[in-house]
Amino acid sequence: PEVTFSGIQPTGIPHIGNFLGALSNWVSPQQTTSITKTALYTIVDLHALTVPQDPTQLRKNKVDMTISLLACGLDPATVLTYLVDLGTSTFRMCMDSKLYYANRMAKSQKKNVQSIEDADTSSGLCLGLLAYPVLQAADILLYKATHVPIGEDNVQHLELARDIAQKINKLYKQDIFPLPQPILAPAKRIMSLRDPTKKMSKSDPLEQSRINLNDLPSTIALKIKKATTDTIKGITYDPENRPAISNLVTIYAAVQGVDVEEIVEEHSASDTMKFKEALTNVLIEKLTPLQKEIERLKNEHGYVQQVLQEGNEKASLIANKNLDELYKLFGLR
Ligand code: ATP
Ligand code: MG
Repeated sequence: PEVTFSGIQPTGIPHIGNFLGALSNWVSPQQTTSITKTALYTIVDLHALTVPQDPTQLRKNKVDMTISLLACGLDPATVLTYLVDLGTSTFRMCMDSKLYYANRMAKSQKKNVQSIEDADTSSGLCLGLLAYPVLQAADILLYKATHVPIGEDNVQHLELARDIAQKINKLYKQDIFPLPQPILAPAKRIMSLRDPTKKMSKSDPLEQSRINLNDLPSTIALKIKKATTDTIKGITYDPENRPAISNLVTIYAAVQGVDVEEIVEEHSASDTMKFKEALTNVLIEKLTPLQKEIERLKNEHGYVQQVLQEGNEKASLIANKNLDELYKLFGLR
């Protein structure tokens, strides 16, 4: 059976990188639950604890994220609420994870490293951050995921999950875990509007680096107007030599659901300012209905709570069944 599984951290409002890179695949009809397919999407609150979190704010962020996901068109039946007992399986999987591997990944999550250092862990990396990719793997494997729609930044984490799955299958001589494969969107890595060498992130302290799903038209216009470009004339797609413009072309194409070539052809003679105006318009057009839906759902508190509650029950049901199987396999039960 096909199980599609993915997660998002409740660390703020999703931006168009999340939306075009990952969420677009979460809401696509191929990924929706059917008789032969299961689709499960979770709001990973535990993962968010790799940096300090205010409990009240975290709870609120979780509700807000649920609203954003539903507004993006996510099937409420696919929402899982997080927090099942992952401790045991994560700890077991730690035995199959090489330290240098986890270390490299933790370091590449630069924002986390900085924040943790800010939070004064005197020796830099903390154990939780190191173990974070293993927690992610434990999540994916716990639901026996076969397909994982993610942005490119998560591909190496998925490799760790595959690696752990293979090792455990081999060690216990059973095909307990399917090998999960990534599903990538054309916009798999949207870059910061201010620094095209960095990916767009919820946690980037620079607000102008991203377009949030709830940005007002005037905010979108301003952020796009101020987005980094270059001094070369015309619009081309050349990520190596023109990373900033190419990022805007990628965003444009993904919002319109067409290839980058089509956008370049249409706008090759445009100057940067005209192109930015056109991009602003398509972004506003795309996000306005979504924002209306966010506003509507904000007044549907009971409904959102119900989605979370049912997601929680569903998560416990699947997770406990699979955990039980794992405990037996590991000789813990
Ligand atoms: P944070 O800074 O808190 O880590 P984030 O923006 O990286 O936030 P996540 O919640 O970590 O968002 O990731 C949610 C999903 O969005 C993941 O599948 C991730 O790979 C994808 N994603 C994140 N940023 C981008 C991006 N810039 N382009 C494409 N996909 C992205
Ligand atoms: Mg991230």
